[in-house]
Amino acid sequence: MSTIYLRRKISPRVVNGHPWIFNNEVDKVEGEPAAGAVVEVFTHDKKFVGKGYYNSQSQIVVRLLSRRKTDVINEEYFLEQLRSCWNYRVRLGYTENCRLVFGEADSLPQLIIDKFNDYFVIQTLALGIDVWKPAIVKALNTIFQPKGIYERNDVPVRELEGLPQQKGFLSAPFDTNIIIRENGLQFHVDIANGQKTGYFLDQQDNRRAIQHIVKDAEVLGAFTYTGTFEVHAAHYGAKSVLGLDISANAVEQANRNAVLNGVQDRCRFETANAFDVLKQWGKDGRQYDVVMLDPPAFTKSRETIQKAITGYKEINLRGMKLIRPGGFLVTSSCTNLVNPELFLQIIDMAAKDARRKIRQVTFQKQASDHPIIWGMENTEYLKFLIVQVM
Ligand code: SAH
Repeated sequence: MSTIYLRRKISPRVVNGHPWIFNNEVDKVEGEPAAGAVVEVFTHDKKFVGKGYYNSQSQIVVRLLSRRKTDVINEEYFLEQLRSCWNYRVRLGYTENCRLVFGEADSLPQLIIDKFNDYFVIQTLALGIDVWKPAIVKALNTIFQPKGIYERNDVPVRELEGLPQQKGFLSAPFDTNIIIRENGLQFHVDIANGQKTGYFLDQQDNRRAIQHIVKDAEVLGAFTYTGTFEVHAAHYGAKSVLGLDISANAVEQANRNAVLNGVQDRCRFETANAFDVLKQWGKDGRQYDVVMLDPPAFTKSRETIQKAITGYKEINLRGMKLIRPGGFLVTSSCTNLVNPELFLQIIDMAAKDARRKIRQVTFQKQASDHPIIWGMENTEYLKFLIVQVM
């Protein structure tokens, strides 16, 4: 096995537990590790740091898998890791659907596995984890005997690792339009063509958090995707719910989800650009009791963070203007580039510009099947806030 020695003067980040080793942190490479191979990492003074996978093509040359010298990274290792990921979720009460593997937070860097009851969707986003795909599939078959496994590697980030974008079956083919259950409701999930892995499991606890505020309310949802929050609102007793998304596909699926749950009489969806429509309806003087917003990240890099801040502020400002005094704003942000503190500042700025007083009802993060590792900032990404708008 090849050996990597770190430079003497680097930040203590890696030694303190972060699994990423950047190009400029490496002093020397002993041996000629193949791309994707497992290497051992030591400090400049030869203290063992961990074992990880190597890719000289990537800015992040090593991602650590283990801190234990005795661990052997082989097929069996992945079986044990996946078992331990599942045990953790079972312990937290998950039975049907969960993010089974949340990459770095589960010591399996760049591996995402979503479990939709008997079906699994996998993403291997770095070369060093991609080479273990057969072992990972084998482990899933051993632990779960799934009805189907599907790969959603149609993501641009793979190209930074020299990997192609691709998607397809990792099991015998199956009908990729499935139905999952959540909080007593049912949702169509399109595993092959939906966004990301098909469904946003990270909001499953947050969807329950709207239960009381939507009762008898007129609700407007924007950035609804397949309508999960809106169908929950109708189920929890909203008088009427209108959901908006820019994607016609998402809207079609959302309307099907309303029918699936028998709430189509009071919950409907339309295709629209939320920025334009909310602005116009503000001018028209439309009012709602609850406005729910769950926009996309708006940016993928720290350099263009201002774009995200502007986007979040703008849409929340427009949302607040549509809320009757005493009503509620339910608002999310799904990028780790906007940290929780900054997100609250943005909402505060939006409230000031809208000349509305707000008070915090609840402030939550992603569901606990997406654990947060302190010091690993990309594991803390979802913010979910409910404020009352006076
Ligand atoms: N709330 C959803 C997830 C929303 S993802 C859930 O819990 O499942 C963000 C959504 O915003 C995507 O469906 C995307 O199509 C939509 N979107 C992006 N830009 C938009 C815009 N300008 N107007 C309306 N929808 C938009």
